[in-house]
Amino acid sequence: MDAVQRSSASFGTRPLDQCNSLARMSDSVIRHDWSCDEVTAIYNLPFMDLVFRAQTIHRTAFDPNKVQFSRLLSIKTGGCPEDCGYCSQSAHHDAGLQASKLMDPARVIEEAKAAAAAGATRYCMGAAWRSPKARDMAPVIEMVKGVKALGMETCMTLGMLTPEQAQQLADAGLDYYNHNIDTSERRYGSVVHTRTFGDRLETLQHVHDAGMKVCCGGILGMGEAPVDRAEMLRTLANLPEHPESVPINMLIPIEGTPLAAAEPIDAIAFVRTVALARILMPMSDVRLSAGRTAMTDEMQALCFLAGANSIFIGDTLLTATNPSEDKDHQLLQRLGMARTEARTFSTVV
Ligand code: SF4
Repeated sequence: MDAVQRSSASFGTRPLDQCNSLARMSDSVIRHDWSCDEVTAIYNLPFMDLVFRAQTIHRTAFDPNKVQFSRLLSIKTGGCPEDCGYCSQSAHHDAGLQASKLMDPARVIEEAKAAAAAGATRYCMGAAWRSPKARDMAPVIEMVKGVKALGMETCMTLGMLTPEQAQQLADAGLDYYNHNIDTSERRYGSVVHTRTFGDRLETLQHVHDAGMKVCCGGILGMGEAPVDRAEMLRTLANLPEHPESVPINMLIPIEGTPLAAAEPIDAIAFVRTVALARILMPMSDVRLSAGRTAMTDEMQALCFLAGANSIFIGDTLLTATNPSEDKDHQLLQRLGMARTEARTFSTVV
């Protein structure tokens, strides 16, 4: 097997346009064996060197002037039995959120139609569950099939999955499953107490084994040290396959949650983390996710320069605010950037 074949084999299902990019990349770039010292050293490079390196790698695999649009809908809000310290939807915290039942699939599909009309190519549906119950699977499968029929990529985040549930979702045509590891393994227990870092990795394995693409990232600004950011990304980069999508969130501190008073992350440190994600996972979509309302246009532009190539559009992200579509379009126009069209996927073997 030659170098390109080895690189390709480690990537599984990829957009067709990335197949050619793989052929241009040396397999030394595609790695799953990063050491802590190596990733920390990259994170701490002089900022200009770091961003230049990230942008150079970014251009090998992606059009640097294109951004993918996703849209996220909360299909079941609040009352979650988990105690994630950053989340307004946890029943353990008093964030004043009104809990709701699982949405009707027909309504979800109508919302997805509006998102497609606004340019979203991927529709993400999130439910505030520890894990779905058996009775929940039929309606969520109906949602997946309905949104797929609109020609959109589908993504869900429903909590922990059994291997059987993962297979049911894959069989329904779900493209991506989101399941974030949030932070480094060593800090995980101080952010979430109702499950372990290992639980997260187990569900990621089930998702991968069922043949779905993995969406997995974390949250910055939870009081973590730089080494935690580097370690979080090292965990993802050292998985047998890199997650196809890596959301990087900036904490939105919410009154009533344990992290309400967390110190905001420095913008340069945030951009460093985006750049590290791009360098460690050259072919993955790196998504600027929650927290963009607190970012300046200049900070977002730096994130794109550092290799971010995907955003959530729409005024709300689950229960948090997000920049308006007008504001996003204006920003992309000022930067001479445009949204990507829907992509065709092919299995790279
Ligand atoms: S992040 Fe998800 S799992 Fe954690 S409390 Fe919020 S809804 Fe529940």
